[in-house]
Amino acid sequence: MSAYGGIDLGGTKIQAVVVDESNAVLGSARLPTPTSGGPADVAEQMTWALGEAAAAAGLEPATLRGIGVGSPGVVEGGAVTSARNLPGWEGSFPLAATLKKALGPPVKLGNDVQVATIAEVELGAGRPFGSMLGVFWGTGVGGAVILNRKPWQGRGGAGEIGHMVVKVGGARCTCGRRGCIEAYAGRAAMEIRVRKLVEKGHRTDLLALMEKHGRTRLTSGIWARALERGDELAERMVERAIRALGAGVASAVNLLEVEAVIIGGGLGVRLGAPYAERIARAMVPHLFEDASPPHVEVAALGDLGGAIGASLLVSRGGTGGASKAQGRGSKPGAPGVRRASKPRASQS
Ligand SMILES: [Zn+2]
Repeated sequence: MSAYGGIDLGGTKIQAVVVDESNAVLGSARLPTPTSGGPADVAEQMTWALGEAAAAAGLEPATLRGIGVGSPGVVEGGAVTSARNLPGWEGSFPLAATLKKALGPPVKLGNDVQVATIAEVELGAGRPFGSMLGVFWGTGVGGAVILNRKPWQGRGGAGEIGHMVVKVGGARCTCGRRGCIEAYAGRAAMEIRVRKLVEKGHRTDLLALMEKHGRTRLTSGIWARALERGDELAERMVERAIRALGAGVASAVNLLEVEAVIIGGGLGVRLGAPYAERIARAMVPHLFEDASPPHVEVAALGDLGGAIGASLLVSRGGTGGASKAQGRGSKPGAPGVRRASKPRASQS
């Protein structure tokens, strides 16, 4: 049996999986992303996460055929540059070589959002569709464009749906510009806003819930709990996020007329179908072809999609590396698509 590793490096968590050749998950582990230090500390935590996933699968990391990594920032060859949302990661860091030295198997890097979208195309909610937008609603709002079942990369950086402008001169975005979707819907921006409003005397259970659960950030789970309790500020913030997502995603659909929109990311997956439905409704007023809206679905691989997608970089010989590299798009009906069995992905 051949086994492969996959690591999804996120702004909040590091998710690792070990899969077999049919993409079934043999073991998984999740650790928080370090909030201080630098790239070397993040790489060390990634090593721990993969080690735990391998242990859960009853394997040694050294026996894996390869390890794929989905990383934020600019991925070029084996290095990652300017990964904002990660501590002290302004310059370039040789992530692939560092992980290979610590773990043993060859390591390939890819863009985090792109590998997660390709996982949905090949194994998840995207299987029936030829064209789609992946919208990853989490710490930021990431995106990927799939046309004719292949990623559209533009000149290398296409798919930044989070920075579609939904209000000229609007809220300050974490990218430094104004009025982007992410300025309203990114969890980092939402948290900054909540803290400001609380300072001004607004009431919410969000921060108390965060402390009660031993968190230092408003995670997707904390947002979900606050919404379940009917926390008014949380509901208002999420409604504002949904309005921004509706306008921005609809605008992208007006341009590309894709068949489907797949909603993933920490918040997208945690809040699930009822909220994907709200995003779909928020899109309608902005859709030019409003009689034939696209399918809007939650990422079927859940929280593990990013890590499973990363493992495809090595299990399918997919090209990671340069940001301009093609990801693993495959034609409808290609043998790889038919053979693929659905991984046991847990929704947490
Ligand atoms: Zn922005």
